Amino acid sequence: MSKLEENIAKADGYLARFRKTGVLNHIDGEAVPAADGAVFESISPIDLKPLAKIAHGKAADVDRAAKASKAAFREWSSVSGSERRRILHAIADAIVARSEEIALVECVDTGQPHRFMAQAALRGAENFRFFADRAPEARDGKALRTVGQINLTGRAPIGPVGVITPWNVPFMLSTWKIAPALAAGCTVVHKPAEFSPVTARLLVEIAESAGLPKGVWNLVNGLGEDAGKALTEHPDIKAIGFVGESRTGAMILRQGAETLKRVHFELGGKNPMIVFADADLERAADAAIFMIYSNNGERCTSSSRLLVEKQIYQRFTEMVAQKAKRIKIGHPLDPDTVIGPLIHPLHEKKVLSYIDLGRSEGAKIAAGGEKVAGPGGGCYVSPTLFVNANNRMRIAQEEIFGPVLTAIPFEHEAEALALANDVQYGLAGYLWTSDVMRALRFSEQLEAGMVWVNSENVRHLPAPFGGVKGSGIGRDGGDWSFDFYMETKNVAFATAPRPVSKLAH
Ligand code: NAD
Repeated sequence: MSKLEENIAKADGYLARFRKTGVLNHIDGEAVPAADGAVFESISPIDLKPLAKIAHGKAADVDRAAKASKAAFREWSSVSGSERRRILHAIADAIVARSEEIALVECVDTGQPHRFMAQAALRGAENFRFFADRAPEARDGKALRTVGQINLTGRAPIGPVGVITPWNVPFMLSTWKIAPALAAGCTVVHKPAEFSPVTARLLVEIAESAGLPKGVWNLVNGLGEDAGKALTEHPDIKAIGFVGESRTGAMILRQGAETLKRVHFELGGKNPMIVFADADLERAADAAIFMIYSNNGERCTSSSRLLVEKQIYQRFTEMVAQKAKRIKIGHPLDPDTVIGPLIHPLHEKKVLSYIDLGRSEGAKIAAGGEKVAGPGGGCYVSPTLFVNANNRMRIAQEEIFGPVLTAIPFEHEAEALALANDVQYGLAGYLWTSDVMRALRFSEQLEAGMVWVNSENVRHLPAPFGGVKGSGIGRDGGDWSFDFYMETKNVAFATAPRPVSKLAH
């Protein structure tokens, strides 16, 4: 039996229970169908065949879940930090123990290749460990002194929070949002993306089996316009942690206005990778390939605009094109596969329409550019490189969220900076140069929440993660996550009996 056949058999085994019972919601510690019994069907992008029936939650289900999370908040928020740390580490241990199952199920649900999802499952456990270790100090604050007064600051969890996640790397992203919320002492209602709901169910089960009390973590599946909207409007939900498209973020702001929701948004990107002639071109080419084609290009921090100094443009884009042509497209459960099928036929249609658009805008295809007949006949699109493009083209301005790279030449540093910043987004930037002063100067002026210099995206969990402009509001990571999930309170004590102004005698 090949490794692929073995993985298919194992994935079938893990999915059998969902084929039989469907994917249920999880409210107050119970696996429950939608209140009105409705379901929607989820398909696998590998063969477009039905994967499972998913509980189709709506406002009534969100209301139950929000009330359960409100009821659980009083107890969970008063659990000691060291106990929260112990439970979160137990969740991490349980994720590791079931990481094979998580990775295989995620691959079939999303089309993401196993080589990346195996790592993403373990990253999920690391997210829990990282925030677990910070739980005991999450409430600590500062002592701010002035003459005759000492101010003591402290933090308290904000309350029940809603977490709304996208379909691209659903398991890892859910842990990234939910682990800090739990570490802070918040309770959670999670609404996962309708295209890839299965591992969110595994995650809540894992958390409760590891000792998380009932009602602390609730799961409501459903569509954005009903379950998602109801969550953002619910008065018991104090904040919304959202990862998804920029225009959905704008909708959530409007929906949450009435109840004054605090929001944290991680949105889209059109991230530039800027390559100067003095860069290590071989490493830069590998990084360009990795940052646009890993995770099927369905990655918010993908380097989808390649800005290359004119004197090396021809040579460098040829290097990238040659590498792109050698990438293995295949079944996501094949350990050798680098690119699997895109999430859904609707998304495949969108990506292919951008490839047509790029051609009609006058850009030239140097690699890929077509649908591929991959195993299972699903949503396979070849890794695509556009050359002879300019920054005004829509393929250079809009987020395609697939394996499509647009390469644009620049003459000098000032032009590179202007092109890099001339976009509505500002999530990440990747700068390649051996000139240290230029790297410092350029990275300071680049309009992005995160810049990597001479590196692909390598995440350090204590560092802030998030975007500027249309790419987001707020930061995740380290203490920044607690700033979102907690309220800061200041208590001022007089340390000397200073005279109080008398307004009346
Ligand atoms: P999406 O915005 O369509 O959906 C995300 C989630 O929002 C889903 O769960 C969806 O059901 C829900 N939703 C939709 N409409 C809603 C509404 N009116 N109210 C409440 N919830 C609603 O995004 P997607 O297509 O699932 O994911 C791809 C997008 O996510 C890309 O733009 C990508 O860049 C972005 N993303 C960003 C980051 C980041 O960290 N910045 C990470 C991953 C993905």
